[in-house]
Amino acid sequence: MSKELQKKTTRKKTIQKKAAVKTAAAKTGNQKKTPSVKKKQKARRITVSIRLGLVLLTVFFVMLAVIKIMKPSLLTKNYFEMKGEDVDASKPDIDVQLLTVNPYSRPGTKTEKIKGIVVHYTANPGATAMANRNYFEGLKDTQITKSSSNFIVGLEGEIVQCVPTWEIAYASNDRNIDTVSIECCHPDESGEFLEDTYRSVVQLCAWLCLKFDLSEKDIIRHYDVTGKICPKYFVEDEKAWELFRRDVKKAIKKAK
Ligand SMILES: [Zn+2]
Repeated sequence: MSKELQKKTTRKKTIQKKAAVKTAAAKTGNQKKTPSVKKKQKARRITVSIRLGLVLLTVFFVMLAVIKIMKPSLLTKNYFEMKGEDVDASKPDIDVQLLTVNPYSRPGTKTEKIKGIVVHYTANPGATAMANRNYFEGLKDTQITKSSSNFIVGLEGEIVQCVPTWEIAYASNDRNIDTVSIECCHPDESGEFLEDTYRSVVQLCAWLCLKFDLSEKDIIRHYDVTGKICPKYFVEDEKAWELFRRDVKKAIKKAK
């Protein structure tokens, strides 16, 4: 081989080697970037991040808006009432006979957000709603116990309100702070409600569910809070209790 040819071959090999290195670098993405390419890539990354942030923010606000329309009570911890025609239209006749503020039956303490409705029975067969209301009022003088209820439903279906729904009543122990209580009158020891009483309690519960953005599942018995046999008939007859809740569900549907 002549020296000239040898030189040419060596040069060719060097060029081939360099090309091979370049190709390998390109494949692995390790080629050196110029500063302007780096800047461009950085700018692109920032743009992508901003866009992603905006999308997430939009999703967040859309979800917030949906919750505000579908379940507004979720967004607050404080006392909250729904407004609307369905709430007004489903309101039963209520005889408001508020108790005097006193430590034994109306402490004047504010409730938190209402999360449930507690049904009771008076355990006082034959007594009317007003008689029970007057017993609660009398506790400020007799001071024999602490007891009351937001509402009392009477033997003829009459509804007497003793304590505003934004104030606690002494009826449901640990749940006084976030529930509304309903005492129900009954004619005898069985604790079963008369038809008129039953109808009014269903209507009152449906209205309260709409007012506080609750469902029939949020209606509980005093028994579910403390295990007390109250309301007696609905504790002893689980099917009657389930039927009662279904009747409330129907009444809510009808009102909407
Ligand atoms: Zn009770």
